[in-house]
Amino acid sequence: MAGLKLPLHESCLDSGKLCGSCKLRIEKGQLEYWEVKVLKALLEAYRSTGSKSSLAYEASTIAGSTLYLALEGPRVEGLEEAVSRSLRLRGVARVKIIYFTGGPIGLLEKIFNQKIIAVNRVYSIDGTSTLKVTVESRDPGAEKLASSLLKIKVIAEESKTTRESKGKPLKVKIEDVKKTLDKLF
Ligand SMILES: [Zn+2]
Repeated sequence: MAGLKLPLHESCLDSGKLCGSCKLRIEKGQLEYWEVKVLKALLEAYRSTGSKSSLAYEASTIAGSTLYLALEGPRVEGLEEAVSRSLRLRGVARVKIIYFTGGPIGLLEKIFNQKIIAVNRVYSIDGTSTLKVTVESRDPGAEKLASSLLKIKVIAEESKTTRESKGKPLKVKIEDVKKTLDKLF
């Protein structure tokens, strides 16, 4: 299916009047109010590029004065610039689109810029949960960005294999990673 997949209706974004089901998504906390502006700008920008590529909106977050947009699908030429031009959001000076493929693992790998070896969701007594991501080398910046995009605290740990013997092939339990992440998204 070609086109841009958004969590809110195109007609609602165009008219600026959200229907009941779109409003409910925001009330349930699946989306933030300011994301409506981002989605509107993204939709207009996507149309302006004339692209027919399949893209799906995953999440966005603001870090510093940069808006990060995670989109699943192939890179669309000129889209980032077009979003920057049409988006008027307080405190946002720059737009950075993170394109990824391969679901949540693909997004994490894009953010960390390395292979994700394992993912575990750890629950605390107070009911909050943390996502422990095993990588070859830690990256605090990526942890922060992943936390705000995935809306869950992400902590990265270096794999034992990396620590004990560099160079040996790593055992990748990609199935476990998938299972944990599928429940999140
Ligand atoms: Zn709607």
